[in-house]
Amino acid sequence: MEAIYWVLTWACHRRCKHCYDDRFRPYVREDLKRVVGEGQSAYRNIIANLPEDMSFVDASGARKRTLLVLAGGEVLIDGVREELFYPVLEEIGRRWGDRGPHISIQTTGDILTPEHIEGMLSRGVRTIAIASIDDFHVGLEGDKKFALMEDVRAMMALFGAREVGLGGARDPRLKAPGSRPADDDRGPFFVLWRAARLVDWRTLAARPWLGEWPL
Ligand code: SF4
Repeated sequence: MEAIYWVLTWACHRRCKHCYDDRFRPYVREDLKRVVGEGQSAYRNIIANLPEDMSFVDASGARKRTLLVLAGGEVLIDGVREELFYPVLEEIGRRWGDRGPHISIQTTGDILTPEHIEGMLSRGVRTIAIASIDDFHVGLEGDKKFALMEDVRAMMALFGAREVGLGGARDPRLKAPGSRPADDDRGPFFVLWRAARLVDWRTLAARPWLGEWPL
């Protein structure tokens, strides 16, 4: 199996107009517990029913690790991070150990702290994807998204995380690297990109690299 995109929870801290499902939104008090509880009651069974061998053979015949992308909602918000997200990472570590899939996580990045980065990397995350570098996330319009990029880069530098890119970036203000890491390089990495959910399928057909998951 090449890749799995796993939405852990509907809970988010935003109400983006471009979001593809209106269940991704803020929840409070009992509603938050209920929606996080759905993920808590499911994740052990989900992990237990994934293949023992989390790898695949690519077009060139090389065997590579499966990519497991964990996302929300927003997995770093209070009420989700410690209650669901970190336990999922720990369960993945128990299930596969060193034979595990490459783990990427997707976050908006605007609530990211060094403590969060440490919490993820120490639990086996290989790549942290900041997926809000666009004009559609409220508060990150215009030059604000470039400020967020610099904040994230400074935090990642504390952990020696290397920036990787998707390719296709044209605006020099993005300062985007173009390379992808080798499969046997365990990172850590980070990537800055925009909301994939904004990409129209007709655009995707014409420019398929836009829909690729980076790592
Ligand atoms: S941050 Fe992402 S999941 Fe949350 S509302 Fe916006 S697009 Fe949806």
